[in-house]
Amino acid sequence: MNRTATRGTVRTASRAAALGLAVVVGLVAIQACRSVPLPAPYSDAEHGADGDLPVGVTVFDDEYAGVGNLDPELIGALRDAADAAAEQGIEFHVNSGWRSPEYQDQLLREAVAEYGSNAAAARWVATPETSAHVSGDAVDIGPADAAAWLARHGAGHGLCQIYTNEPWHFELRPDAVGYRCPHMYADPTRDPRMQ
Ligand SMILES: [Zn+2]
Repeated sequence: MNRTATRGTVRTASRAAALGLAVVVGLVAIQACRSVPLPAPYSDAEHGADGDLPVGVTVFDDEYAGVGNLDPELIGALRDAADAAAEQGIEFHVNSGWRSPEYQDQLLREAVAEYGSNAAAARWVATPETSAHVSGDAVDIGPADAAAWLARHGAGHGLCQIYTNEPWHFELRPDAVGYRCPHMYADPTRDPRMQ
């Protein structure tokens, strides 16, 4: 092989390497784009406009309808509390926030199937007409250490656990600031709003 042929081989090899690198960069870029949350209006039916949320959504992710449609004062209080909790290494996840009436109805039907009766399901899931999730006034916070932190420190931010049987469910009670949260109901069936 003469020198020209050798140079040609090297050039071809480096061109192939460059092409390979370009393909890899392109694939990485495509993956990166796919992980970016969808902007409103929501085109992802799976985690979309009905308030269904993927795992790991935080109180700052208001590009999701389940977070973005919450009452602004509630989400503001949650963000203040989340900042305080983060200083202690705790991150709030929103397992559920705002829900469309249709999504609430679906959850209620699933609960009736799971618990066996309307009465039993009512201890856990409200109707679309009565749910504080549908009105944008409630969040279910996880994981357990985040909910426990909020149960202990939430009153200072006006955030209160409402039901003894739902340690993850919080609503805004501004009067709690500087005082304490109101007495809890044993479960939603004891809440006058649910009648
Ligand atoms: Zn809830």
